[in-house]
Amino acid sequence: MSFQVFGLPVSRGVAIGRAVLVASSRVDVAHYFIDETQVESEIGRLRSARDAVARELSTLKRDLPQEAPAELPALLDVHLMLLHDEVLTGATKQWIRDRHYNAEWALSAQLEVLARQFDEMEDDYLRERKADLEQVVERLLRVMARGVSTDPFVSSPAPQAARDFGGEDPLVLVANDIAPADMLQFKRSVFTGFVTDVGGKTSHTAIVARSLDIPAVVGAREASRIIRQDDWLIIDGDEGIVIVNPSPIVLEEYRFRQRQSDLERARLSRLRHTPAVTLDGERVELLANIELPGDAPGALEAGAVGVGLFRSEFLFMNRGGELPGEDEQFEAYRTAVEAMRGRPVTIRTVDIGADKELERMSANELRHEHALNPALGLRAIRWSLSEPAMFRQQLRAILRAAAHGRVRILIPMVAHLSEVRHTIEALARARQQLDDARRAYGSVELGAMIEVPAAALMLPAFLRHFDFVSIGTNDLIQYTLAIDRADEAVAHLYNAWHPAVLQLIAQTIACANRLRKDVSVCGEMAGDPAFTELLLGMGLRSFSMHPSQIVTIKERILSTDASRWAALVDRVIGADDPERECQVVAAESAARVATLAASTSPV
Ligand code: PEP
Ligand code: MG
Repeated sequence: MSFQVFGLPVSRGVAIGRAVLVASSRVDVAHYFIDETQVESEIGRLRSARDAVARELSTLKRDLPQEAPAELPALLDVHLMLLHDEVLTGATKQWIRDRHYNAEWALSAQLEVLARQFDEMEDDYLRERKADLEQVVERLLRVMARGVSTDPFVSSPAPQAARDFGGEDPLVLVANDIAPADMLQFKRSVFTGFVTDVGGKTSHTAIVARSLDIPAVVGAREASRIIRQDDWLIIDGDEGIVIVNPSPIVLEEYRFRQRQSDLERARLSRLRHTPAVTLDGERVELLANIELPGDAPGALEAGAVGVGLFRSEFLFMNRGGELPGEDEQFEAYRTAVEAMRGRPVTIRTVDIGADKELERMSANELRHEHALNPALGLRAIRWSLSEPAMFRQQLRAILRAAAHGRVRILIPMVAHLSEVRHTIEALARARQQLDDARRAYGSVELGAMIEVPAAALMLPAFLRHFDFVSIGTNDLIQYTLAIDRADEAVAHLYNAWHPAVLQLIAQTIACANRLRKDVSVCGEMAGDPAFTELLLGMGLRSFSMHPSQIVTIKERILSTDASRWAALVDRVIGADDPERECQVVAAESAARVATLAASTSPV
């Protein structure tokens, strides 16, 4: 039966493929295809893991202390029985043989199938055995993961891109939730699209999905419950619709749209290296947002003239709780700096907290875990200043990378002048430590992210200390409107067109321009063509976005008269419905440009 699920569109385009359901807790399991020749050895890995877990469980049972509860031996017997049950291992082998999934993926796919069967059982006792099954699978996965590097640069066996193997179909991932760090695992993914039940449009999961340039829908609430393994799905990342088991006519329609969008992308890609200049001759800088140093070459390729936001916190994730040391960070920053070949790289100091968690059980992490409202808690610069040694270590690594190219440091979520002072002191100390250690380092510019209304309102005071600012509109919207950006329940109220948000942005750009300090926008608004003309009209000349958006925004810039829009900004912001007003103004401008073009073209 065909039906539709509605969510929030977060990453454009259309993906068509078969559903792969993954439990949230297992999204970080490696997902890759193996070759036909590796099938037997992969089954061998599964067998060895099963034998190791069987030994583990038997030893546990043998060594149970006298005072252990009487049910424990029986429970371990249940686990042993589940471990050897063909329904688990036999079917898992089948996933490996038929689909060429790696063993971990096959195991979690089979767990998902079984978990659903357990959920549907009438008998309470049997239904509760699902937890036992999950524990057994957890043990198997842990055994298989042993000895695997936790270095995010060295992913275990190289995942292969989504492909047709033996006539098989493309795959789309369906999960309740995907943590931003886990989303990173899909950088070179086998999946051609994503659907999650939870999440908002500018949640970090959505942002990483966009950076992968793969169609995605988040906040689709019941999706992972009602979609079945292997269902055919169309993910419409432009409209936020997931069509389950579409009819052949609908499928054909979407395939047509897919082809159209490929053609459009090919057309736009010709603009990659064209300078971004408005109709009235204003030069605009288009920068890239990146998550890992490995993204830098792609940014250059997409036509970025620098990196406007390197979200360094992604270097701190997926490491089993261990933080990267100074040298490792230095190498990562240097890699990005060198890849950009003399163009500026803006490294944001760690923005941990809110929806980006660190798996570290320090005192601070525990505090964070218990934070009543993580978005308002120990996040970003607040976290860094509460971990002074870690912060200086990061600053030293960035300063050292600055000896290899143009580097700027960006501080997230500043709201207090005391934070500015402490940051500047930390930077001075980091320099002193490098001097003492006779290590080479370079000069850096220091900038602040304008992400909370307090920072926007006291910008002149901040700008006495900073060389530049970058407006983080994702958080500025969240904190101005008091809407958790990751919560789909209030996603309808998260509105970049809110006049208060637009006023704060316009005010920040005007103030920075007046004081002759560089100002950029690095939130998602920068990559949304609906805002390009308005931002140009506000005086913005530097936009930072996912590399895949650069050509789309450039095309807008090339056809915009910035000075005309400057005269219209107040009309748009002052309107009851700025979005509607902006569309009216855009239509008037387009008509005017067309008339001018007609009157100047030779007859
Ligand atoms: C922002 O808040 O707009 C921003 C760019 O930072 P992040 O999305 O990583 O919070
Ligand atoms: Mg932010």
